[in-house]
Amino acid sequence: MEKEYIIAGNWKMFKTVEESVDFLKALNEKINTLPQDDAVEILVFPPFTSLYAVKGISSRIKTGAQNLHFEENGAFTGEISPLMLGNLVDYVLIGHSERREIFKEKDEDINKKVKTALKHGFTPVLCIGESLEEREAGKTFSKVEDQLGKDLEGLNLVEIEKVVIAYEPIWAIGTGKNATPEQAQEVHEFIREILQKKIGSPETTRILYGGSVKPANSYDLLRQKDINGVLVGGASLKVDDFFGIIQDSYKLANG
Ligand code: PEP
Repeated sequence: MEKEYIIAGNWKMFKTVEESVDFLKALNEKINTLPQDDAVEILVFPPFTSLYAVKGISSRIKTGAQNLHFEENGAFTGEISPLMLGNLVDYVLIGHSERREIFKEKDEDINKKVKTALKHGFTPVLCIGESLEEREAGKTFSKVEDQLGKDLEGLNLVEIEKVVIAYEPIWAIGTGKNATPEQAQEVHEFIREILQKKIGSPETTRILYGGSVKPANSYDLLRQKDINGVLVGGASLKVDDFFGIIQDSYKLANG
């Protein structure tokens, strides 16, 4: 049976405009060696400063913003509004754990951002996940359920269906310590169940895994039943590594 995948790269605060352009040109060349396959969607989240310059480099690589403000205009120094993102991006990353932990974003802000992204036609990629402390205390499931409830509050069924969920256990982000495919699958299945209760269509929501994904572990993660793709940090900064993960998704998409 055909499975569809999203392979997404979060560049965080890396890459100048020139580096972003060079990277996407090189990645595009590699992707063009693969047959066109609509079952795999390739997506990168460059820094804001690179978004305009990378537009149009590849018809096979979509782009997203790493954040957005929930207001359209105003006295919010240093913030980026949905109007500024305009037709630059298709996706917006919301609630990444670095935003939650370092920049103290609360679930209520994240909820507003999800609504704003949808209102402006962007697909939100909502990041959720537990800390090491929470996992060790047996609170993984209650944590993700709580985040889903708060971050998606007030959305109607049609809207919830558009949201992509990224399950990113905080202890696995940038640590080199990925969740095992079984650990990830278990939480993905749970997320799907929770969403089923909310929207009644468990098969359609796309749930990505993120946390130290690299070519050495991507195949086994991607082949799990409830994993619809990966959100990749460190390994998305190197063309060969990111392309290796994309190749795995191609192998599995039609397998
Ligand atoms: C991330 O930043 O979303 C991420 C998963 O990072 P890494 O792949 O480096 O763990």
